[in-house]
Amino acid sequence: MAYQHVTLPKDGEKIRYENGKLIVPDHPILGYFEGDGIGPDITRASLRIWDAAVEKAYGGQRKVAWMQLYAGEQAYNVYGDYFPKETLEALREVVVSIKGPLTTPVGGGFRSLNVALRLELDLYACVRPVRHYPNVPSPLREPDKVDVVIFRENTEDVYSGIEYKAGTPEAQKVIDFLQKEMGAKFLSDVNCGVGIKPISEFGTKRLVRKAIQYAIDYDRKSVTFVHKGNIQKFTEGAFRNWGYELGKEEFGDVTITEDELWSQYGGKQPAGKIVLKDRIADIMFQMMLLRPDEFDVIATSNLNGDYLSDAIAAEVGGVGIAPGGNIGDGLAVFEATHGTAPKYTNQDKVNPGSLLFSGVMMLEYIGWREAANLITAAYTETVKDKIVTYDFARQMAGATEVRTSEFATAIIERMDRVRQPA
Ligand code: NAP
Repeated sequence: MAYQHVTLPKDGEKIRYENGKLIVPDHPILGYFEGDGIGPDITRASLRIWDAAVEKAYGGQRKVAWMQLYAGEQAYNVYGDYFPKETLEALREVVVSIKGPLTTPVGGGFRSLNVALRLELDLYACVRPVRHYPNVPSPLREPDKVDVVIFRENTEDVYSGIEYKAGTPEAQKVIDFLQKEMGAKFLSDVNCGVGIKPISEFGTKRLVRKAIQYAIDYDRKSVTFVHKGNIQKFTEGAFRNWGYELGKEEFGDVTITEDELWSQYGGKQPAGKIVLKDRIADIMFQMMLLRPDEFDVIATSNLNGDYLSDAIAAEVGGVGIAPGGNIGDGLAVFEATHGTAPKYTNQDKVNPGSLLFSGVMMLEYIGWREAANLITAAYTETVKDKIVTYDFARQMAGATEVRTSEFATAIIERMDRVRQPA
């Protein structure tokens, strides 16, 4: 289709999603947003690394045709709109994209651009892999035991936007209905805000399906459903129950429950089977600090996942490095998980790790694992050599602090070394 301010690159072909599968040409068009604040710095650095890895891994046979898209402040400058319709159409057309952080204008009733993007495109799974890389500063004694992939439901729960402000006729109407018709009791029904937490079988099962499929594709050992079902029985508790139900219905030949692991296999995991288990959210935070190696893939509802992903990311290096992706049926937008850090704008200073590894997820998503692995290996070497940006340098004795662009160069230089070990 014809766009006003963006152009489909002529040297690329579109990725298609057919019968539940991505069809990826050798020169796929991928969308990218530089984002605001530090976004352009980390995007420039990451684009160089992604392109170099693809070139080195496939000897020129594969190449990405990048299509620049706009949202946030950049979009405002181009379109006079923070979230242009054209951007949404382009995201749908190119199927797979990646974005730097966006400024959400404060006040004026703006919905977060990131939340809007997820809801508009129905990107129902927020996927956050969290693992430790050698030498990356961490508050844990054994951070290398952390290696999980969190699947957070992205569209339901208390994020669905069904909320009524205290003191409004709408809130009073809901309260009156709940009290009079449903026998509900409120501590105080005067000046009381009300929010609704929908959790459906459909929303839960499509998320859990993705989590279990990921565990199969990446040879993971377990999927843990994290919930608060002891208190919220019909929402969080239902999430847990539907999780087990889906596991049995659709993946019964490759999954066993934790109960079966003990009752039928004496606690020894049989080859080729993924263990399905569940944990209550509060204890999960403790376990991820004390015994993180007991967990692998995690599937959880929206609010639990929001808290849990940042808490676990902090265990292995924090926001400068944690990647993320928002994935629906085919459509996917990968993203840096930190914000725009405006005080560092255009200083070529910050850590590109979060966006860089979101790109690694994107390369894995389109099936280009060789390029993805090359970046991970070269990054590991660079940090092992103590070449890092300011955020890691301040926590690392004997580090060489470099700029964002120099860090990218150091990674690219190490790609040949990790491909051809001496
Ligand atoms: P932030 O931009 O994430 O920055 C907070 C602090 O985190 C920075 O001051 C810096 O710490 C550290 N940090 C962030 N990114 C880093 C990187 N790449 N490398 C090294 N350190 C990094 O959070 P914020 O200041 O609360 O939010 C600023 C704006 O970002 C707001 O407009 C917010 O709406 C937006 N935001 C966007 C997204 C998104 O688009 N996904 C997410 C969150 C926030 P030090 O000061 O210690 O160096």
